[in-house]
Amino acid sequence: MQPLPYGRQSIDDSDIEAVTAVLRGDWLTTGPAVTRFEQDLAAWTGAPTVAVTSGTAALHVAYAAAGIGPGDEVVTSPLTFVATAATASQLGAAVVFADVTADTANLDPAAAAAAVTDRTRVVSAVDYAGHPADLGDLRSVAHDASALLLEDASHSIGSRWRDRPVGSVADLTTFSFYPTKNLTTTEGGALSALDPRLLDRAARFRNHGLVREKDRQRSPDEGGWHQEVHELGLNYRLPDVLCALGSSQLRRLATFKERRAQIVARYRAGLENVDGLILPTRRADVDPIWHLFAVQVLAGRRRALYDHLRDRGIGVQVNFVPVYWHPAYADMGYRRGQCPVAEEFYRRQLSLPLFADLREDQVDRVIGEVRQFFGA
Ligand SMILES: *Cc1c(COP(=O)(O)O)cnc(C)c1O
Repeated sequence: MQPLPYGRQSIDDSDIEAVTAVLRGDWLTTGPAVTRFEQDLAAWTGAPTVAVTSGTAALHVAYAAAGIGPGDEVVTSPLTFVATAATASQLGAAVVFADVTADTANLDPAAAAAAVTDRTRVVSAVDYAGHPADLGDLRSVAHDASALLLEDASHSIGSRWRDRPVGSVADLTTFSFYPTKNLTTTEGGALSALDPRLLDRAARFRNHGLVREKDRQRSPDEGGWHQEVHELGLNYRLPDVLCALGSSQLRRLATFKERRAQIVARYRAGLENVDGLILPTRRADVDPIWHLFAVQVLAGRRRALYDHLRDRGIGVQVNFVPVYWHPAYADMGYRRGQCPVAEEFYRRQLSLPLFADLREDQVDRVIGEVRQFFGA
């Protein structure tokens, strides 16, 4: 039988045509398709947005725009991909892990409030599985500490929180367009910011920090060629070829969201009465795009179910090993046990296949194998 991945891209002829049109044109990078993609993104995020080369680059740019460095602290969830923390660590900040809530696996505002200090510069929430974090309370926690709220929305472009699009609520919001995510530009990412000064700093960082505007330069009379670097940056520019793919994928995002919701509903109906499984919760004030269908397997049977499904060609995944369990963080002195709710969630967690092109017979096959495992 065909092995089934846990996630994969959906590329159709419209996507391919969008890419080949740019390949035939004049601009492969820093051209009009970048501007168009950023405008298309802003229509979804509800805030000015810049494109970058990955979700990791978006996080790095966001922390750089927030100005964090040695002596600063960033409070975040351990239940995330390592990049949410690693990019802050790369800039020399100390990462402080705060626990999650048991229902959504998102950063717990009470735990975050207990973790902030007068050195906290950023509180980073993660919209786990596509379900927006507790943004209202987390924003208060961050702002009461004179810190910024960053939302790692790698899973949640297209989600809404209290009827507002993800991207328009936190001070900084980052997105990933890796192939398994809700839409793809192959590699790619983006960052939204509410404060135009933060957005300007971010946009500059992704292009070496270059200042081309004469009225902002220290030596504007140097000559027509002159450009200056005031703050060091990097090259995180997403090329036109990939931005064109992004714009094309955004035209399909509403359909992706609907399709993901249908698959999640089918999983729920097929698995709701299985003893030994907890299905994902959805809070009343959010309208999520489901990136993951993250179940919890009780009675210590997660590994057995993972092996059972993998042996049958079903590509399940575990999201995520707590970040401070990684040897890089253990070597910095982080100890296991510090976020018990996140660790318990990790021990039970399993992501079933979920992507827009997943067919109903494939969903039913997964349901059937899970039920067989539990003798249900
Ligand atoms: C995928 C992901 C990232 C990193 O995005 P890339 O585009 O792979 O660099 C960061 N945070 C979370 C929560 C992710 O799932």
